[in-house]
Amino acid sequence: MAVSGALAAIKITAGLMGHSTAVVADGLESAGDVFASGIVLLGLALAARPADWNHPYGHGRIETVTGLFVGFMLAMAGLAISANALRTIGAASFSHSQINVNGNASASGENLAVPTPALGPSFGVAPSGT
Ligand SMILES: [Zn+2]
Repeated sequence: MAVSGALAAIKITAGLMGHSTAVVADGLESAGDVFASGIVLLGLALAARPADWNHPYGHGRIETVTGLFVGFMLAMAGLAISANALRTIGAASFSHSQINVNGNASASGENLAVPTPALGPSFGVAPSGT
């Protein structure tokens, strides 16, 4: 579990630095695995306790509670990753168009007379320099 935790931290850090949703999601999944393993382990340890005065049937049902919690947590993580991926789709297409604007602007430096409507407001800046 300690190794998995370190691996998760490395993956998340590398993914955030490289702006890779897949690597971040993978790291979060590893972190979730570590957390889920801890919860399950705790649940098993608690469930193994003998019956006491306020739990006369024992503590075996705690496994159900921890299992439900882990399932709920994984569902939330999946939703969060999906939502982030949907947001990043928009952001990625935006930055892609930015790259095109810059590339076209520098490439069309010789023939500025050719209008390119797709370039938008930034195109108006380039001809004013001449
Ligand atoms: Zn008890």
